[in-house]
Amino acid sequence: MPQRPQVRSTRPKVIFTHNKMSATSPSSSVSSSKAPSNPTTRTPSTPSEVFNDILSSAQPPPTYSQQTWNPSNPYFPHYYSQNMSTTATSPPEPLIPPTPALFTTPPILHDTLQTPSSKDQISTAEICMKHLSNPSDPFPILSRREHIAFLEGGILGVQNGKLHQAMVALDASRPWIIYWCLQGLASLGVDVGKYRERVISSLRPLQNESGGFGGGNGQVSHVTASYAAVLALAAVGRGDDEDGEEGEALGIVDRRTMFHWLHEIKDWESGGFRVCVGGEEDVRGVYCALVILALLGLPTSGNLVKGTKEYLGRCQTYEGGFGATPNGNEAHGGYAFCTLAGLCILGEPAVVLRKHLDLDRLVSWLSARQHAPEGGLSGRTNKLVDGCYATWVGGCWALVEAGINGPQDENEEALGEKKVGGLRDKPGKGADHYHSNYILLGLTSAQNYFYYTSSPIPLSSPGGAGMGAGGY
Ligand SMILES: [Zn+2]
Repeated sequence: MPQRPQVRSTRPKVIFTHNKMSATSPSSSVSSSKAPSNPTTRTPSTPSEVFNDILSSAQPPPTYSQQTWNPSNPYFPHYYSQNMSTTATSPPEPLIPPTPALFTTPPILHDTLQTPSSKDQISTAEICMKHLSNPSDPFPILSRREHIAFLEGGILGVQNGKLHQAMVALDASRPWIIYWCLQGLASLGVDVGKYRERVISSLRPLQNESGGFGGGNGQVSHVTASYAAVLALAAVGRGDDEDGEEGEALGIVDRRTMFHWLHEIKDWESGGFRVCVGGEEDVRGVYCALVILALLGLPTSGNLVKGTKEYLGRCQTYEGGFGATPNGNEAHGGYAFCTLAGLCILGEPAVVLRKHLDLDRLVSWLSARQHAPEGGLSGRTNKLVDGCYATWVGGCWALVEAGINGPQDENEEALGEKKVGGLRDKPGKGADHYHSNYILLGLTSAQNYFYYTSSPIPLSSPGGAGMGAGGY
């Protein structure tokens, strides 16, 4: 995501409120006890007072000594203002409040029925609480170098230029592996343009003459494989080499046959899209088809998307989230992201999100996806937290935020982390490229401020198309 530090952000305003409060209340009195520092009991009357009461009843804020105060620590920019001088010898007032007690103590309600899932949840909660209740270092620092090495292994191969043998099971997901690794690397600030030739030579044979990309060599075209292939080609961008591959890597996509194939998978009756010719129809099909249209510069209005906004709106369930189809499926974070993102491609977020769905109910359901004390997000009601929902659910917040903020003037971390590089579903699980990418994207959605511009951004610009993110 493009970093636009000059963009005004709403979040530091909230944090600044806390900072002002800290300046008027000596930290020694706050840190001396876990009990609220204000002895008088009263009913808070303003949101600011409620927020301050939550803070005072939480664990004491961390105290900083010469040992813990380290301006060169890469995590410090998240604690303090980006403009802070790294030559300072004493720490400024912390801008981030301490971890609320909700995330440092066991849950009040316990499930008496023991299952593998309930045991998994308890062990995850214990590991997370250990990190979150440590006031001197509540968040592990992202091991950027190791994650880059892990993701580069997915592009270049880990042994003799090949992927691990376990990856054979993902033979029908070749474009996905490439996309996950490229996007994860780009999120870490790596210039992925250097993989351009490699990406083109891997993806070109997967394109079918009848339009679209298969998941592997000789496989039928599938909309999710096509989506991943188009995103990967967009990520590596424009090349200036002299071997006939000048221009955008996306230029290898046959736009005409792709457009024709997307007409074949459209369900003209419902307004949705199937994932392949004769395949199942759901919001994944819609979202992937719309991303392909948008990135290839094909029309995202007109006959092909007739009835599609209404189809997406009908997928909202009684819970407020979105199911796979309008047929009453269970609300799920992945389908919710596909629906919101699809609507935001089809129309202006501030308009379409209010017109085609119940935004209040959605916000309620999205809020319930964060679990305590783990702090992570789950995809469905009564399911466990999982790192990839940092994108599927966290990304919904970015879209909702952009919809609420409306158009603006263009000028204006990580408990799933593994030390050897790579990110994972939850502690105890293995790292993989899928989770590495989506957890990093989730971090991005949590650390940026989202808006959209009224005029489209050209594909060749580093920001990509559609939506921007301001950095803090
Ligand atoms: Zn996951």
